[in-house]
Amino acid sequence: MCGIIGIIDSPDAVSLTHLGLFALQHRGQESAGIAAARNGALRGHAAMGLVSEVFSQPVLQSLAGDCAIGHVRYSTTGSSHVKNAQPLIFQTAHGPVAVAHNGNLTNAAALRAQLEQRGAIFQSDTDTEIIVHLLAREAGSIEEAVINSLRQVEGSYCLLILTPDRLIAARDPYGFRPLVLGELGGDRPAAVLSSETSALNLLQARLVREIEPGELLVARGGTARSLKPLAPKPLSRCVFEAVYFARPDSKVFGRNVQSVRRELGRELARQTRGLQADIVVPVPDSGVSAALGFSDESGIPFEMALVRSHYISRTFIKPSQKMRELAAQLKLSPVPETLQGKRVVLVDDSIVRGTTSLKITKSLRKAGAREIHMAVSSPPIMSSCYYGIDTPRREELIANRHRIDEIRKFLEVDSLHYLELDRMLRAANGCPACAGDDSQGFCSACFTGHYPAPIPDYENITAAEPPRRPLESNPL
Ligand code: SF4
Repeated sequence: MCGIIGIIDSPDAVSLTHLGLFALQHRGQESAGIAAARNGALRGHAAMGLVSEVFSQPVLQSLAGDCAIGHVRYSTTGSSHVKNAQPLIFQTAHGPVAVAHNGNLTNAAALRAQLEQRGAIFQSDTDTEIIVHLLAREAGSIEEAVINSLRQVEGSYCLLILTPDRLIAARDPYGFRPLVLGELGGDRPAAVLSSETSALNLLQARLVREIEPGELLVARGGTARSLKPLAPKPLSRCVFEAVYFARPDSKVFGRNVQSVRRELGRELARQTRGLQADIVVPVPDSGVSAALGFSDESGIPFEMALVRSHYISRTFIKPSQKMRELAAQLKLSPVPETLQGKRVVLVDDSIVRGTTSLKITKSLRKAGAREIHMAVSSPPIMSSCYYGIDTPRREELIANRHRIDEIRKFLEVDSLHYLELDRMLRAANGCPACAGDDSQGFCSACFTGHYPAPIPDYENITAAEPPRRPLESNPL
């Protein structure tokens, strides 16, 4: 998963891009980068680390330009290495081109092999570079080259492509990932493109609209042209953006994320009506909004009985098992005075492998909770994502291998409740009229195993269903 941002026609383009990346940092923490256009050339800087670590004042000054794009990366394809840090910059027959990509191409392996056979030499192992090689081989204008390359790729993408005189934004026809257009005020309004509105809010930019699925927006010299050259596909917005990934203060797919998550919690409370408990406790920060909704609907008081520390260094050295256990406690710490003798509804947004949830339920029990009822604001995750979210291989997903009663035993909880798929989609959509369509315009493949876009690179994986095995033998 990644975050992308672009600023067009502002003398502060680089500083604004830099600032905007802070509001997208939750979308990727491995690397960060900015490319800027000035005097017919592109300059860029990208390195491993957080935005605060990657850019110094001299680096930002060296990048100055009127148009800039930025990227934060969390790898889904390609290793976690500086050679894969974006934006990627290349010299092509169309001139210099910088690319920032959020998403995951699902026919990258075949395209890369074909390109290599025809002599292409790759500098990174990202799928993003494939797009650059494809467009470099196309004749005509840069717009035509981008369009013809996008006709060859499958999967998910939101792209920002910067050249010395224009910026092209593109969103795949399924609309998997969000991309919005905003406008900065002033004498000469500048355009902003961003994965999420959290960056627009920070920059005090006005939200104009979403970039539509299959749309290309070409911004140049104060004007923007919208093109729709790609064949339409079934709308498949990633429902996980609303459930888990996007920032609560963002508006994603037209709805505020915090309100969607609160509604997911209300749906969960409606589904589990009659559940007897004394307090509703969120797993911070992921379960907070849904727990608030659960408490609203059920009338059970909300309590912050788990405290999360935000100050743990990523390089903290944990030399022994004992130290590792203590470190786990450092991150999420229970409040015994609030939990003692209580029947707890523990709310989280998802269960992936189950190992983190088990640590939490054990710590609640140790702190005195009498009963624990785990309520999850999404259905069981059964399948991997191939469209840009870094879920583990499906055999590592606890719900792929085990029934709900087995998972309940494994988590050592008194009851376990997953939100039903229909309820999740209804809450994410906020549109009862859309309920006639089973998908309601969302991808929910990680819950259902039904992939809306072809996944040729992964077909051998999905064809081989791993055998179920008893929980006792699961090396979780
Ligand atoms: S598979 Fe899941 S995480 Fe991936 S795009 Fe679809 S809903 Fe989102």
